[in-house]
Amino acid sequence: MKLIDLSQPLFDGAPNCPAHPPVKSEIIADHPKTGWRVELLTLASHTGSHVDTPYHKLADGPNLDQIPLERWTGLAFIADLRDSKPDRPLDATILAERLRGRALADCIVLLATGWGRKRAKTDEWLHHPPYVSADGAKWLVDQKIRGVGIDHYSIAGLRDDINPVTHTILLGANIWIVEELSFPDEVFALPQPFEFMCLPINLRGHTGAFCRPVAIVR
Ligand SMILES: [Zn+2]
Repeated sequence: MKLIDLSQPLFDGAPNCPAHPPVKSEIIADHPKTGWRVELLTLASHTGSHVDTPYHKLADGPNLDQIPLERWTGLAFIADLRDSKPDRPLDATILAERLRGRALADCIVLLATGWGRKRAKTDEWLHHPPYVSADGAKWLVDQKIRGVGIDHYSIAGLRDDINPVTHTILLGANIWIVEELSFPDEVFALPQPFEFMCLPINLRGHTGAFCRPVAIVR
């Protein structure tokens, strides 16, 4: 078995959602002085590769404790959207085109926009990613998918008129979201669907958590 890492690294000063505090990793003990080394992390629970549960946007939605671990695994299809320009709405038309002929029910849809490779504190990466429109989110709900992933910190950017609408449509249909994926070239060569897994760490009752997303090749 081989695992292809689809995560983005976390480190001190890593690019992140500007609505969250900056990512800090401080060394608070180190080898020469104390004989051991440890870091103190200061970061939002939705930083780096992470999952969103419905509770993130819906006050009565399920949180991490209420979603069985098996739900975070499944068969995945990639929608190749790497030809995206800034601010491209990922609507029903483009999603249907890029996922044509795929039997998506109970599967995971991974949206590869190319923004994972642009990850830096630039205006383009921070403020002008492609985003799933309300119409695109409804299309994903109609396909009865299990979960959806994207290679950016938010599936719907930062715009207040779009972000909550897209999130609420998906999360309200009990479709989980995994954000800040990265897609190395080799993943596009895999036969689809492939096995995918993004187990969140056990943050009790939280709205989301860091995870290590992988494609599993047997
Ligand atoms: Zn999130």
